[in-house]
Amino acid sequence: MDTLFDKIIRREIPAKIIYEDDQVIAFHDIAPQAPVHFLVVPKKAIATLADLAQEDVPLAGHILYTAQRLAKELGCEKGFRVVMNCNEDGGQTVYHIHLHVLGQRQMTWPPG
Ligand code: AMP
Repeated sequence: MDTLFDKIIRREIPAKIIYEDDQVIAFHDIAPQAPVHFLVVPKKAIATLADLAQEDVPLAGHILYTAQRLAKELGCEKGFRVVMNCNEDGGQTVYHIHLHVLGQRQMTWPPG
């Protein structure tokens, strides 16, 4: 199914893109929940984390690697949080997997 993020990947709707390579794109969240809040999105359309296949394991690693690299570039040396919401109870709203990266504020635990 085509989602909002497929349209961002195809440049059909605008986004503040931070980074792109052949596997992922990263852009600022439109409704930031921290001074730094961006999303790392695979170009492959996988609906939820629960749909991740064995063949996607290297891609999942690349998403995490990209997240920490960009977090440091964007000034989150003191720390940051990564979140991947999965399905309804997980609070997922866009059904194309994406890793949230939040930083430059103190996070609390547990999340709401
Ligand atoms: P989730 O609720 O985990 O599925 O996260 C979806 C995220 O996408 C939310 O944090 C939204 O603020 C964000 N979002 C929705 N539309 C856009 C957009 N056009 N550009 C950037 N981020 C968006």
